[in-house]
Amino acid sequence: MSIVSERLIIWHGQHGRHHLPWQKSRDPYAIWLSEIMLQQTQVNTVIPYYARFMQEFPTIDSLAQASLDTVLSLWSGLGYYSRARNLHITAREVMHYYQGQFPCTRETIQKLPGIGRSTAAAIAVFSFGQREAILDGNVKRIFARYYGISGYPGENKTQNLLWKKAEESLPVHYHNGKIEAYTQALMDLGASVCTRHAPRCKICPLQSECVALKEDRVNQVPTAKPRRPLPQKEAIFLLLMERHNILLEQRPSPGIWGGLWCPPEIGVGIDVINHCQRNLNIEVKAPIKLPTLDHQFTHFKLRIHPQLLQVTSSDSLITLSKFIWTKPMNALAKGIPAPVRKLIKQTFLSGHSSPGI
Ligand code: SF4
Repeated sequence: MSIVSERLIIWHGQHGRHHLPWQKSRDPYAIWLSEIMLQQTQVNTVIPYYARFMQEFPTIDSLAQASLDTVLSLWSGLGYYSRARNLHITAREVMHYYQGQFPCTRETIQKLPGIGRSTAAAIAVFSFGQREAILDGNVKRIFARYYGISGYPGENKTQNLLWKKAEESLPVHYHNGKIEAYTQALMDLGASVCTRHAPRCKICPLQSECVALKEDRVNQVPTAKPRRPLPQKEAIFLLLMERHNILLEQRPSPGIWGGLWCPPEIGVGIDVINHCQRNLNIEVKAPIKLPTLDHQFTHFKLRIHPQLLQVTSSDSLITLSKFIWTKPMNALAKGIPAPVRKLIKQTFLSGHSSPGI
């Protein structure tokens, strides 16, 4: 057994997490769901979402049969919505191509939508006890520091080297829960000891061989992502009000926020009243500009300019299925992105009457 795995398995027995809700199960469906939710998201945030999902969709069949709208509304607030769309597609694929049996090897799991090598490996480990290496962001940080590997882990060369180290570090004897304990230990060490900022090297089970610690390079490893300023896009969100309802439009999928509900969006510089007349067949009063909202995606920043518009014509309202009129409170129960949730809350539900309404 490698020194790393030996130390981590012992450490996990004493200090690791043993009572996370998905740890009670070896059901690949439950483990897959938890692993997808845990991508880019902290355990404490995931736990209530996981509980709601498992209650609503206790089996992969029930998830496959649900509408995407229902899945997105349960996911609402967790972010990175492509995860929810891929969950839904994958559930249907598993029902269709695998007769409802989740595939049991890392290679096959990895072919399903939205499942990368590390996530596939985690599912293979926790569901089927297979000897597979994981390498999520936390684990990259641990191995980069422990083996003293410089270079940004997002670059292929560094990533390939980290995969090699991850495989070399696996326990040789992996039965009787050893591979599960080792894999969970890596996750727990990354979350609680070898953290991005202020790692707790004094209590780390790997401290005596850790290269970055020996060379006093802990704060330089892993190498940070080369900084490039994110491009900024701008858009106007039309908060159209008809009596006490607002208009929401379901965004096309694929695309940013695909399948989620948002106020209609137009580019800056477009005449709002004209747009409403020509494209939505709606007459409105003069718009009221609301404070801007900023939202950051992985690849760009979005500055939202919301405008509140009172609808004056009520006989020609939109009937296409991608549009709905709904009360602001009811909109919150739908699949809506975080900045839209914030916008609706602060405009309609903050306890003050809406401006100009
Ligand atoms: S000794 Fe410090 S830097 Fe090295 S693996 Fe442990 S926590 Fe990370």
